[in-house]
Amino acid sequence: MEHINWYPGHMKKTRELIRDNLKLCDIVIEVIDARIPVSSRNPIIDELVGEKPRIIVLNKKDLADAEENRKWIRKLSDDRTQAMDLNCMTGDGVKQLLNLLKSEQNRITQEKNRQRENTAGASGDARAAVMRSKPLRMMIAGVPNVGKSSLINRLTGKKSTKTGDRPGVTKGKQWLTLAGGMQLLDTPGILWPKFEDPQVGRNLAYCGSIRDEILDISELALAFIGDMQVQYPELLMERYKLAEIAETPLENMEEIARKRGFILPGKRIDYERCARTVLDEFRGGKLGRITLEKAE
Ligand code: GDP
Repeated sequence: MEHINWYPGHMKKTRELIRDNLKLCDIVIEVIDARIPVSSRNPIIDELVGEKPRIIVLNKKDLADAEENRKWIRKLSDDRTQAMDLNCMTGDGVKQLLNLLKSEQNRITQEKNRQRENTAGASGDARAAVMRSKPLRMMIAGVPNVGKSSLINRLTGKKSTKTGDRPGVTKGKQWLTLAGGMQLLDTPGILWPKFEDPQVGRNLAYCGSIRDEILDISELALAFIGDMQVQYPELLMERYKLAEIAETPLENMEEIARKRGFILPGKRIDYERCARTVLDEFRGGKLGRITLEKAE
């Protein structure tokens, strides 16, 4: 992942690029991480999307709590927004997404034809009212590491979209053709995460949306263990064979290190190795299915 350095000029440019690209699209697919459905969203997307219809994809559904996925889908859906969950690794949900897109294409076509019929009726030209289907144009947007490129690859059946996490979308626009002639912008719109709230920053870091190199990994893991103690103590105990949950994250981390044998010469705890292990195992789903931000 490229270094994330969202200085204001960067943000302004990104916003303009996404807005320009959006003008060409009928619909936006906003990809978020199902484990952190609040922290992986960005309020600016609302402003950018405006009145356009939107599909919110809770990606990495396999890593999140299934019941929470259902609750979030209900909570995030409204008149203009359809939410759904998806797993880009297996493709589970891709068919449903394509169906949603097809029905959206039909809806938009019908709307346009209705408008055309009205105009044709007034001018008496019946031929102008003939049904014509225009391919749906869409773009995929979201913060880094939520699975935008994976989803583009899934939708197109290609393997070459990895563009790196750079802001915005390239100027030379390329469209990829999907089933039924629908068109997808080949580069995702990369939104900047909102860092103002430290918990949001931590959640993004736990899930790998912020490069570890710019973070203190031990502190991050301690914060993660602290959150897990409250939200999923049983998963922590199970994974690391802890007899009980101690009061402080530090005590729990030390016990995890002892259980795993992360001990340095002189019986010192290898905090860094322990931290990396815990975070890697969470990211890989080894701790179980975890939703850190609940719908209710
Ligand atoms: P982008 O930065 O938003 O384009 O995200 P990528 O498509 O590069 O995906 C980031 C990481 O998440 C990669 O390691 C993917 O393999 C992984 N990933 C993407 N989708 C899923 C998913 O549905 N489930 C799981 N477990 N991992 C996923």
